[in-house]
Amino acid sequence: MPSSPSLFRPRTLDEALDILAGTPDARPISGGASLVAMMNAGLVEPAALVSLTRIPELSGIRLTADGSILVGAATRHSAIAADKALGGTAAVLAHAASQIAGTAVRNMGTIGGAVAHADPGLDFPPALFAVDARVQLAAKPARRALPIGDFFVDWYTTALEPGEIVIGFEIPKPKPGDGFYLKHARVSGDFAIVSIALSLADDGEARVAVGGCGPAPLASAEADLMLSSSLSADTARRAGEVLMALANPVDDVRGTAEYR
Ligand SMILES: Cc1cc2nc3c(=O)[nH]c(=O)nc-3n(C[C@H](O)[C@H](O)[C@H](O)COP(=O)(O)OP(=O)(O)OC[C@H]3O[C@@H](n4cnc5c(N)ncnc54)[C@H](O)[C@@H]3O)c2cc1C
Repeated sequence: MPSSPSLFRPRTLDEALDILAGTPDARPISGGASLVAMMNAGLVEPAALVSLTRIPELSGIRLTADGSILVGAATRHSAIAADKALGGTAAVLAHAASQIAGTAVRNMGTIGGAVAHADPGLDFPPALFAVDARVQLAAKPARRALPIGDFFVDWYTTALEPGEIVIGFEIPKPKPGDGFYLKHARVSGDFAIVSIALSLADDGEARVAVGGCGPAPLASAEADLMLSSSLSADTARRAGEVLMALANPVDDVRGTAEYR
């Protein structure tokens, strides 16, 4: 039987990064909603867990002087669903958060843990594409930021390097407008079979992303341009065809590739 991992609960980001860099086979843990299930199933056996939820810098949603929004990686799904700063085109993020699982998981899971987990049925990734987010990463000694489109590399695989963690998400200043997240799942609160995230500015600019149809959300500048030039049933159909050409769905317990 595997031995229990050591648990570290650092209070600062610096401390967390030092532990991750200096402890063999250490893994970050945030809400634990996915990681504990993977450990219980014997899929992963980390020697040490480094909890990220007691580090103030990683939690909460902040407005910056230029109007952009910083969402800390350890911010819980329920906090994102309820945050009034996520208005205008950024509302898509709160709308997606409100549809994740049930109340218990929304009070436990974090946006950083979800995105690092990179399950293709997750709700945040398409919404982060629709707001054109940048992922902020930190390791010892350096920090870096990646456009969300460069973060997902393959099925359950991200650009995270060993010892590196997601520290937050930078959302460009939202425009007046709205954001919508439509999820098709077997039952309410289940992972998405297919989902669509859309941000729609009052000036007509649209950004769309589709979840569940490949290792990463499907997004295309061409589809965005079509929807931005005129929002009609015809442009929606044509944008859908552009995105469908990028799809690489697989069969899983929630649905077949053909159904998706
Ligand atoms: C019953 C159930 C139903 C669910 N339904 C949905 C749903 O409908 N929609 C949906 O989107 N999600 C759903 N989820 C997943 C949920 O959103 C999880 O919270 C999320 O996948 C993981 O977040 P976490 O904070 O718990 O991460 P953890 O479980 O703590 O970690 C997950 C992985 O990410 C790594 N990690 C954690 N934090 C970081 C970080 N900051 N930087 C780098 N790596 C990190 C861990 O090492 C681990 O590999 C569900 C989960 C459960 C248990």
